[in-house]
Amino acid sequence: MPELPEVETTRAGLAPHLEGRRVSGVVLRRPDLRWPIPPEVPALLPGQRILAVRRRAKYLLLDTAAGSALLHLGMSGSLRVLPSSTPVREHDHVDLLLGSRRVLRFNDPRRFGCLLWQAPGEVHPLLRGLGPEPLSDAFDGDYLFARSRGRRAPVKTFLMDQRIVVGVGNIYAAEALHRAGISPLRPAGRVSRERYRALADAVRAILAHAIARGGTTLRDFLAPDGAPGYFEQELSAYGRGGEPCPRCGRPLRQALVGQRTTAWCGHCQR
Ligand SMILES: [Zn+2]
Repeated sequence: MPELPEVETTRAGLAPHLEGRRVSGVVLRRPDLRWPIPPEVPALLPGQRILAVRRRAKYLLLDTAAGSALLHLGMSGSLRVLPSSTPVREHDHVDLLLGSRRVLRFNDPRRFGCLLWQAPGEVHPLLRGLGPEPLSDAFDGDYLFARSRGRRAPVKTFLMDQRIVVGVGNIYAAEALHRAGISPLRPAGRVSRERYRALADAVRAILAHAIARGGTTLRDFLAPDGAPGYFEQELSAYGRGGEPCPRCGRPLRQALVGQRTTAWCGHCQR
């Protein structure tokens, strides 16, 4: 699944090709993705100039004066800017025509992605109630400490809650907890302020590194330039249950935490 770094990589890759360009037409090859594509997309988007390409959590927003196209890549979605003559492949569900020469093409084999519409001055319901961006100034250890008081949920579940902070998926939560030396099972309300500072620093460092590298380990993801977004990332804990801890060499434990597979070191993470 594309996580925040992949989506940010997609945004940064698309922005120079889209910002300032006018959408000349919309081609919908099916009426829905995960949800129906609202009538505003084909009705309002043609003729509009794309003013900015933004990201909020794992959503991309193409801002125009008429409103914003709201995109999510779901499990397997990819967005590419291609010459208009590029033959349509299976699962190429949506094209935004960018004049006669180029097209923004949305491919999504599993159709967990979406294309929705946000009216000017409104916040789409999917974007309401989201926590801060992990790379923003609003996210730090003091924030996590304050939000976690009295919570008995495991700290990993807390960290993956989009109302607390957006875009920390299973991979990054496992990696950040290993780096910070915190057991994923520890109740969120029983982690000290100092340790939350270490955790926030770990989240930021790991996400920033992944963005710099262009993403994580994904079969289905395609970078906007067409290169596969597959990077051999140095994962310390995620997916490594039973393998030696990179820090102490003891075998990593593995269990389900909040229905998600989690690996951690029982020695280094308390
Ligand atoms: Zn260890």
